[in-house]
Amino acid sequence: MDRQDTTDYEDGNALAGPLGELFTADVTAASGRCAGCGRTAVVADLRVYAHAPGLVARCPSCDTVILRLVRAPDAAWLDLRGTVYMRVPLPPA
Ligand SMILES: [Zn+2]
Repeated sequence: MDRQDTTDYEDGNALAGPLGELFTADVTAASGRCAGCGRTAVVADLRVYAHAPGLVARCPSCDTVILRLVRAPDAAWLDLRGTVYMRVPLPPA
């Protein structure tokens, strides 16, 4: 299957609800650096594939898996190995 098919994925806003369960800040506004190509972009720009086991978010530039999120009945599994860092905007402390 061609991963560039725009009917195959949703944008990163699809992560708002599932990640909102883990983080109090709006993570879709966070920016991160891709471990594959070094591109820095907001989470909302990721390509989210929801028909894998859990959610798989890929870099729109190089297709690297940026994050995986699997929700079990009693826990969430968050794999960020495709992310060099994530910057989450917060109100001033
Ligand atoms: Zn990339």
